[in-house]
Amino acid sequence: MENNMSKDIEKILFSEEQLKNRVKEVGAEISRDYRDKNPLLVGILKGSIVFMADLIRAVDIPCQIAFLSVRSYGLKAASSGKIDMDGDIDYALGTRAEGRHIILVEDILDTALTLNTVSNRIKELNPASVKICALLDKQVQRNIDLLADYKCFDVENEFVVGYGLDYAQNYRNLPYIGVLKREVYSGD
Ligand code: 5GP
Ligand code: MG
Repeated sequence: MENNMSKDIEKILFSEEQLKNRVKEVGAEISRDYRDKNPLLVGILKGSIVFMADLIRAVDIPCQIAFLSVRSYGLKAASSGKIDMDGDIDYALGTRAEGRHIILVEDILDTALTLNTVSNRIKELNPASVKICALLDKQVQRNIDLLADYKCFDVENEFVVGYGLDYAQNYRNLPYIGVLKREVYSGD
């Protein structure tokens, strides 16, 4: 049987090569801005894992990593507007956020509801600073005043998958980012 994930992809937006090159540039920016600051990069699970893995290897200053589990989409292809994020954040991070320079690492900023909630919760812990690093920025749907401090690429209002981004938990392992065919999620 043929490997069939690619049949569900309308078009490739960013190839492996483009992702590699751009992530390197963003890693270099972070390295320059955070020299001597020992930043704590906090990946938002699960979508950020592939980006995070490449990004930290493009950062050449001392840094630490942590992850937070946040859920906004459920199984659908449209934002639910509901964020599940409970419990003790320091405990979830496995380290204290107080006094740290935090960089939140997200797969895609869409309405920004998710990151707005996360960054407000983190700010309650008195970090030295909080910035946002997004792989993709989908600004058309934004009605919250929140911008990415670092981003790799802008995207239009299309549903994209791959390089960590899923549809109903699938396609995260595609090495490129592509637009999912509408027929795949048109039931939602
Ligand atoms: P926001 O709270 O900014 O509206 O939603 C952010 C989250 O929605 C992202 O972390 C991601 O999980 C999901 N999301 C938004 N747009 C897309 C998209 O085009 N593709 C995928 N796979 N997820 C998306
Ligand atoms: Mg996500």
